[in-house]
Amino acid sequence: MPLEIAETINPGIKDRPPKAYGRRIGCDRCGRKRGIVRRYGMHVCRQCFREIASEIGFKKYA
Ligand SMILES: [Zn+2]
Repeated sequence: MPLEIAETINPGIKDRPPKAYGRRIGCDRCGRKRGIVRRYGMHVCRQCFREIASEIGFKKYA
């Protein structure tokens, strides 16, 4: 899992306690609870993931 990408999306993610991950339910960006993508340390819905992906030039995910 490339941590640089996670850092780009969530600055300071490395400083957060790992435990906080299991407690988050909704998307980090919009709070949506469906279609969550947990990838590269992110926790966002598919829709936000696509927006983020285009922002950072990550276009593999369609
Ligand atoms: Zn979202």
